[in-house]
Amino acid sequence: MLLALALLSAAPAVPAPATPDAEIRAAAERIRPAVVAVRRDLHAHPELSNREERTGRLVADHLRGLGLEVRYPVARTGVVGILRGGKPGGVVALRADIDALPIEETNDLAFRSQAKGVMHACGHDAHTAILLGAAEVLSGLRSRLPGSVVFLFQPAEEGPPEGEEGGAALMVKEGALDDPKVEGVFGLHVGSWVSVGQAGWTDGPIFASSDTFRIEVEGRSVHGAQPHMGLDPIPVAAEIVQALQLIVSRQIDGRQPRVLTIGRIQGGTRFNIVADRVTLDGTLRTHDATVRSEMKARMARTVKGVAEAHGTTAGLRFLDDGNPPTVNDAGLARDVAVPALRRVFGDGAVRVEPQMVAEDFPAFGGKAPTFYFLLGTRNDAKGIGSVNHTPRFDVDEDALPLGVRAMATLAWDFLGSGGRRGAGMAPR
Ligand SMILES: [Zn+2]
Ligand SMILES: [Zn+2]
Repeated sequence: MLLALALLSAAPAVPAPATPDAEIRAAAERIRPAVVAVRRDLHAHPELSNREERTGRLVADHLRGLGLEVRYPVARTGVVGILRGGKPGGVVALRADIDALPIEETNDLAFRSQAKGVMHACGHDAHTAILLGAAEVLSGLRSRLPGSVVFLFQPAEEGPPEGEEGGAALMVKEGALDDPKVEGVFGLHVGSWVSVGQAGWTDGPIFASSDTFRIEVEGRSVHGAQPHMGLDPIPVAAEIVQALQLIVSRQIDGRQPRVLTIGRIQGGTRFNIVADRVTLDGTLRTHDATVRSEMKARMARTVKGVAEAHGTTAGLRFLDDGNPPTVNDAGLARDVAVPALRRVFGDGAVRVEPQMVAEDFPAFGGKAPTFYFLLGTRNDAKGIGSVNHTPRFDVDEDALPLGVRAMATLAWDFLGSGGRRGAGMAPR
């Protein structure tokens, strides 16, 4: 008897059911018209960051209709839906961002934006529709699902209005990953980086860090004919712009990606008056935490030093905490995500070069390994190729069922993968 018990406890756990690929595929095709309809409805009614009232309510109602546990609102207008599977297992989260941008749409679509000056120009309408579709597909297979899936519908990915909290960090702060405790997080982004039918992945960095900064150069205004009587901040600002690029080109290892852009300079009032100050606004992008902090320290030194050389002062300020680079967990990519994408996309699952755009998705990575991929929505034959954040941005809706399948498959594979859940994860 004792021996029998010992043998029983030593026996391997019952293997989790294999991912029902064919059923996921069939379900994604079956709900395709509904997913397209949701995407078009959201596209026609875009809402800015932290103002996603209608969108959040629509998502919460939809998830309740599927029988999920729903927490709403989270992080102001966001929604967390929890689907508890019929089989025991771990917890995985799938994330969609839900906000739009202050851009006037110029597409001539039947479902074009009805909100003046606001547009889903980053495709978060597609993300939201895809994740609702994945929730529906997985709900339909709930009795066999080996664990729980947490659906994160996140506001304000594009950045909350000045002075407000929001986005992925606020969702984490409000406990979106804590109950049940999430062990892995997956996210995607649509765009014309890759064509429809493709999924772009990496097993390391995929998006850059981003830090917004402001430099203020102090001057002393005087008649433009007598600059020696005052202090002209404009040539100092010009020298700072040049000197900052010398950090990029001369002080950082050439094998490390980094971009420093000054996107705005403001100073002066009239052609014959020396300006009293100059303000420069810019963004810093890197793929590595060390390069990021090195760049920031060297920028501060350069700004101060150049100003001092000309007998004035200048200050560098980073406007917020910025976003760390989006870095895929290598083990999670190798063991779970890439094999899953290969089953959904076949040869369309392609390794891509990391991009210099950024995301607030890494905020979810503090508590669990993460994986993020690019869902191709470019289709040159249909004239869909405009990049994200432009007034002509659009997505090929043929990508929507693929996105639904990818998210559902990633979640199921993760739950079914037992202990092989990424480099940092202990086996359950
Ligand atoms: Zn965006
Ligand atoms: Zn986006």
